[in-house]
Amino acid sequence: NTKPLTDLEIAHQVELKHITTIANKLGLDSEEIEMYGKYKAKLPLDKIDKEKVKKGNLILVSAISPTPAGEGKTTVSIGLSEALNQLGKQTTVVLREPSLGPVFGIKGGATGGGFSQVLPMEDINLHFTGDFSAIEKAHNLLAALIDNNLQSKTNNLGIDARTVSLKRVMDVNDRALRNIVIGMGGTGSGIPRESGFDITAASEIMAILCLAEDLDDLKKRLGNIFVGYTFDKKPVFARDLNAQGAMTALLKDAIKPNLVQTIEGNPAIIHLGPFANIAQGTNSVIATRMGMSLSDYTVTEAGFGSDLGAEKFFDIKCQSAGLSPKAIVLTTTIRALKYHGGAALDTLTTPNVEALKNGLPNLVKHLENSRLYNVTPVIAINKFITDSEEEIQVIRDLAERMQVRVALADGWAKGGEGALELAEKVIEIVEQSTEEFCPLYDWNMDVVSKIETIATSIYGADRVEFSSKARKDLKTISNLGLDKLPVCIAKTQKSLSDDPTLLGRPTGFTLTVREIEIAAGAGFLIPITGDMMRMPGLPAHPASEKIDIDKKGNISGLI
Ligand code: ADP
Ligand code: MG
Repeated sequence: NTKPLTDLEIAHQVELKHITTIANKLGLDSEEIEMYGKYKAKLPLDKIDKEKVKKGNLILVSAISPTPAGEGKTTVSIGLSEALNQLGKQTTVVLREPSLGPVFGIKGGATGGGFSQVLPMEDINLHFTGDFSAIEKAHNLLAALIDNNLQSKTNNLGIDARTVSLKRVMDVNDRALRNIVIGMGGTGSGIPRESGFDITAASEIMAILCLAEDLDDLKKRLGNIFVGYTFDKKPVFARDLNAQGAMTALLKDAIKPNLVQTIEGNPAIIHLGPFANIAQGTNSVIATRMGMSLSDYTVTEAGFGSDLGAEKFFDIKCQSAGLSPKAIVLTTTIRALKYHGGAALDTLTTPNVEALKNGLPNLVKHLENSRLYNVTPVIAINKFITDSEEEIQVIRDLAERMQVRVALADGWAKGGEGALELAEKVIEIVEQSTEEFCPLYDWNMDVVSKIETIATSIYGADRVEFSSKARKDLKTISNLGLDKLPVCIAKTQKSLSDDPTLLGRPTGFTLTVREIEIAAGAGFLIPITGDMMRMPGLPAHPASEKIDIDKKGNISGLI
C-alpha cells in the first residue's frame, strides 16, 4: 500500500476547473479565448502587451548537464510556479509541448511529475491542440512543392536536387525513415533522389514558429527558408516556390499559444517544442510574451543543460525578442551529480558523498556560465526520496562558498508547498537584484568568433576546429550575406563538451565543427558538432507498450 502513485493516478485525482475559470485568473473572459473543449483554450495574439513584457519578471529554469538519472526541470518549473502563486505573486508557467517521439520512446511525457503537473496530461502529451500536426503539414507541403518543381516541365526553377537538404517530417521515432530514396516508379512519379524524414520537433518550421512575432513575420520567415541551389548556383528560397502563403494559412491556429492548468488550478501556457540539442529548445516567443502580458511572474524552461537551452534562450530568443530574464534557476539533483562524479547508474540511490563532491564541478560551471549573462542564479535541489541530509548539506555548503542562493525543491512530492523556499529565493532576486541581463555575444561578430566565444566561455573548450566542409559552409554563408545571424550550435546534451562520454567539467578539449547548416527562415546558423540525430529510433521496449485506453476512454500507462 506504500507504492507511490503514478503521475497519471495523481492527475486523475484532481478535479479540473473549467478553462474559463483559469482564463479569468489572467483577466480574460470566456469571449476572449478560443475553447478547445472544457479544459484547453487558445489565446488570441492581441492580448500581448509589449509594455508589460518590457517590465515583466521572467524566470528561466535550466539545469546541470543531464544524465540518465533525470533532472526534473519541468517538474521544478511547475512547482515553483505553484509556490509563487501561493506567496501571492500572480504567476504563469510557460512550457514546451511534448513530442510524441519521447512520449512513445524512452523519456515519456513532458508535463511534469508527481504533485507538480500540468493538466489534462493525457491531452497535452498526445496531440494536444494539433500544433505539431499543423507544423508537419506545412513542412511537408514545402517538401512536396520542391519535388513537384523538380518534376515540372513548365514551372521548373532548375533546382539541383542534390543540393536540397530539406527532408519530410513526422512526429514519431522511426529510424527506418531516416534515409530513404524518393521518386521511384518511373517518369510520372517524381525525380529519384536520396532524402529522409526528421522528427517534427526538428523541423525548421518549428524553430520559425517559435521565433515569429505574428502572422506577417511568420510568413516572411517561411519565405526565407533556404531550399538549395539551382544548377547555375543561384540560391533558392521557399518564396521562390510561392510556398509561404499556404504554409502560413496551415499555421493560423498553431501560432496561438495554448492555455491549460496546473494541479493547483493556476494558469499554464504551453506552446511548441523544439529540442535544445539541435534547435533553440524553448517554447515560442509568443507564449513567453503572452505569459508576461497576463501575469506578474512568468516561469519558463529551457531544454537540457544551461550550455544548450539557456545559452540559446539568452543569446537567440532574448536578443531577438527583447526579453530580459531576471533570474535563472539551476535544477540540480544529487543523483545526477553523483553520476557526474563517477558513480554507476545503478548505485545512485545510495548515499555517496565522495562521488557527489567529485560531481560538483559540473554544477559550478553552470553557475559560472549564468554569471556571464549577468543573471542571478539560484540552485534548486530537486529532491528525490533517496537523497540523504548529508548529501543535501554538501550542496548547501558549496552554495555558501560561491555566495549563490540555494533551495530545496520538493514540488514533486508536495506541490507548491514543497517549492516555497525556492519561490522565496526567486522573489528575493527579482526584488533585490540590480543586475541587468546582457547577452554573451553580439550578432554582428563574424561567425567563427561567435562559435569560438560560446565554445570557450560556455563549454570550456580550449579551441575550435573547423572541418573542410565547415569552412566551405562559412564561405557559402558569407556569400549569401547571412553571417550576421546568431548561431544555434548542435551539440550533445550529455557533456559540456562535444564528446558525450566526458562527464563533470571537461577541460582542455577541442570542439570540432563538422558543418554549418543554414536556417535562414528561423534566422540562425546551425554549426554541427558530433553525430546529431534528427530522427531518433525507438528502444527495444518503447514506452508505447504500456499505454492503453479502456472502453470508457480512460487512458493508462502514460508517464
Ligand atoms: P526535465 O524537464 O528536466 O526533462 P522532468 O521534469 O520532465 O525533467 O522530469 C523527468 C522525470 O523525472 C519525470 O518522469 C518526473 O516525474 C520525474 N521526476 C522529476 N522530479 C522528481 C523527483 N523529485 N522525484 C521523483 N521523480 C521525479
Ligand atoms: Mg522538461
